Amino acid sequence: MKVVRTVDEVRAELAPHRAAGAIGLVPTMGALHDGHRSLLRAARQAVDAVVVSLFVNPLQFGPHEGFSAYPRGEGADLAVCEQERADVVFAPSAEEMAMESGVTTVTVAGLSEIVEGRARPSHFQGVCTVVAKLLNIVRPDVLYLGQKDVQQNAIIARLVEDLSYGVSITVCPTVRQPDGLALSSRNAYLSSSQLTDAAVLHRALLAGRARIEQEATPEEAEREMQEILAAQQGVEPDYARAVDPHSFKAPKDEGPVLLVVAARVGGARLIDNLTAHRARG
Ligand code: AMP
Repeated sequence: MKVVRTVDEVRAELAPHRAAGAIGLVPTMGALHDGHRSLLRAARQAVDAVVVSLFVNPLQFGPHEGFSAYPRGEGADLAVCEQERADVVFAPSAEEMAMESGVTTVTVAGLSEIVEGRARPSHFQGVCTVVAKLLNIVRPDVLYLGQKDVQQNAIIARLVEDLSYGVSITVCPTVRQPDGLALSSRNAYLSSSQLTDAAVLHRALLAGRARIEQEATPEEAEREMQEILAAQQGVEPDYARAVDPHSFKAPKDEGPVLLVVAARVGGARLIDNLTAHRARG
């Protein structure tokens, strides 16, 4: 496994791999857990060369969203990459990736401003700008993303299509604790009792899904999820929505409904989602 720090190094390192076969990119902000491992494994099985990026992207954090407190631990991350048999780790310095904030930006309008984007203005622009840069640096054939960040995935899919990146996207299922809590680097902020409380996000989603499956309206499912979140001590709900999986607006009368929740637990803002299928459609 080769660890590279600069754009020139990653390009030089990937040249022979590019000639030999498909390159897969797993973009991460480090603090790797079993969710990230599942992406690395999916990539290892499918492509010839697996590239992992480790970069805490300052552009996607709002002013009070804890960029400097975000968990970092390169030694442990490199050990995970090695265990999962990555070929190349791109771990650039902040200077290597630096762009003057707000000058060159990439925006997927519409999708970036609703639901999670409404709660975090400019977040998705920060994501898109750095993802676009990473795609230009690595030029992968396949991009590996996790279902946990479902709105981000929809936005990146649109970015890739509209700017003709020619990369295919593989979305891997959300890896959860046995109690349903989705693994997240942000879980590191939580005490063991807060981790237990945080499992309510998944319980709310399960209840919302059951309601949709029983032909309740999206609004009824939203109310149910909201009530379950609000009833949990130590949890401050942000939103609980039932949306169309493509537009993130009101669901159509038939077809799947995407349930998305966000809540603050202790020092962490957590998100999760689940797809519900209606009996009809
Ligand atoms: P992050 O390091 O949080 O930016 O996440 C990097 C990638 O890992 C994103 O594509 C995430 O969706 C994915 N990911 C994060 N948590 C999980 C999880 N619990 N299960 C599956 N994928 C995940």
